[in-house]
Amino acid sequence: MGEFDLIKRFFTRPTPRAVLGVGDDCALLQPRPGMHQAISTDMLVSDRHFFADVDPRSLGHKALAVNLSDLAACGATPVAFTLALALPNADPAWLEPFAQGMLALADAHGCELIGGDTTQGPLNICITVFGEVPQGQALLRSGARAGDAIYVSGTLGDANLALTHLLRARAGVEASAPPATMELSADAMAFARDRLEQPTPRVALGTALRGIATAAADISDGLLGDLGHILERSGVGATLDTDRALTLLASHRNAPSNEALRRSVLRHVLSGGDDYELVFTAPTSKAEAVQTAALASQTPVTCIGQIDAEPGLRLVDQSGRPVANDFQSFDHFA
Ligand code: ADP
Ligand code: MG
Repeated sequence: MGEFDLIKRFFTRPTPRAVLGVGDDCALLQPRPGMHQAISTDMLVSDRHFFADVDPRSLGHKALAVNLSDLAACGATPVAFTLALALPNADPAWLEPFAQGMLALADAHGCELIGGDTTQGPLNICITVFGEVPQGQALLRSGARAGDAIYVSGTLGDANLALTHLLRARAGVEASAPPATMELSADAMAFARDRLEQPTPRVALGTALRGIATAAADISDGLLGDLGHILERSGVGATLDTDRALTLLASHRNAPSNEALRRSVLRHVLSGGDDYELVFTAPTSKAEAVQTAALASQTPVTCIGQIDAEPGLRLVDQSGRPVANDFQSFDHFA
């Protein structure tokens, strides 16, 4: 199969919203009046962001999901995307499920594949998404104010817990070997692995939070790091309740049985990454509006702390006692 047959067979579809889709030198989009375009790019590199032998359907889903998650964090509605793909070979048995996983999620969000680039090389997937948001209503990282409550959507830590187990299994390390790691039943592992491989972009929540949230970001590199970006851009600090954070792990609901496990779970939740949930801030006067947005978008949200005027990030337990913070978020070059 040649390059152009491949594009035609797997990546050329009707694009009723776009003025022009795949097949010309450029695609054409017509922005609607009163809207800003929201644009974001995310690249997934084999053996860095995913195992080369991961299920291609999940990979197709995830490659688009992580991009839609950025639109969600801005309160933008998805419109279209481009797909730049480097493939070791043109294998229909791989491409078919990959395209299906990606395009099923695209259809669910009315997001049209309008172009891309295809080349031979080590597996690498780079997607650019285009969304729209009413002018002046985009959720930015810079709007958090002292006194705002800090919320996260959904659950945290499960993806990183699954990754830890998968890496250990691949390295032939017993699940019970130190450092302490939460053991998971087969069902819980399946759930956690699904969170890692098929994240849910919180698009409906993002748009429902327009005019309510003062700042937002999606959690790709870990809560502490991504909240840290909000704090930096907003020139504020924060206090987080670690007891509430511990309740966010969904694959294991029982309280950790000892201090080492407790720290381990906290690490997955606070700095694990790959969750693709939203962290956002809102004034306490908007607490009811936040719950209404959560209900309307069928996305649970949990208040886990507050924004402070004093810079820096403080961890406390439920009674306000300080908790040591030696957690680090993911950094490709650290
Ligand atoms: P050019 O040579 O102008 O860069 P290409 O020959 O690379 O164009 O691509 C031909 C058409 O196919 C273009 O419209 C491009 O956007 C589209 N295309 C290429 N690869 C992909 C892909 N992986 N998914 C969707 N569209 C693609
Ligand atoms: Mg090209």
